[in-house]
Amino acid sequence: MGVKENLDDIRERIAKACHRSGRSPDSVALAAVSKFHSRDEILEALQAGHVLFAENRAQEIVDKFPDILAHHAGAAVHFIGSLQRNKVKKILPLVSCIQSVDRREILAEIGKEAAALQKTMPILFELHTGEDSKAGFAGEQSLFEAIDLLSEYPYLRCSGLMTMAPFTREEKPIRDSFRKAIAVRDECVKRYPSLDFSCISMGMTNDFEIAIEEGSTLLRIGTAIFGERA
Ligand SMILES: *Cc1c(COP(=O)(O)O)cnc(C)c1O
Repeated sequence: MGVKENLDDIRERIAKACHRSGRSPDSVALAAVSKFHSRDEILEALQAGHVLFAENRAQEIVDKFPDILAHHAGAAVHFIGSLQRNKVKKILPLVSCIQSVDRREILAEIGKEAAALQKTMPILFELHTGEDSKAGFAGEQSLFEAIDLLSEYPYLRCSGLMTMAPFTREEKPIRDSFRKAIAVRDECVKRYPSLDFSCISMGMTNDFEIAIEEGSTLLRIGTAIFGERA
């Protein structure tokens, strides 16, 4: 199947999962994860009407996206990977959200560079909720310490949380991981009433239907749209 057929199929599965959980399909956005895939494959998705993408390596954003963003109105790319401080400056002009803020040093660097560019940058805090992945804030304590720093960086705009469930066929650990993210989000809403935590980025090819049932508002799907990565 081509990218268009895959997108149609995914949209239908999203609609069904939303229906099952009593949610409106409009309440769940989809970022097509184009890492390791070519510019031509991204163009196929754009031709099928899909405009939001995500990448996990700074270099791929720099290589593929300047041209795409310049020529396709509405196209946008999020950063979802482990970010090194010296790459922040390169990607900041190109991305419309950094979903993977996972430590205070990177928050500070994004805050400093966004101010230099005078570009307001939406960010998500990445929370570690599953056993396999090491990325993300390990718990509420370290997460809150980072959120407390936001007042020093007026160009950062908190939009919510991101998490990755463990990679397994078992449903329970996946569901537990997503539930933990929602519980922490609820805690954040109470603790920081003036900040926005409305975006919950969770759900990938193997677990997005469970993520929708648990309250995801933003899916990150690669393989089911573009096929296996080389
Ligand atoms: C690769 C990646 C995805 C997409 O994974 P698929 O299983 O291909 O859908 C989602 N989120 C992050 C952070 C990733 O690195």
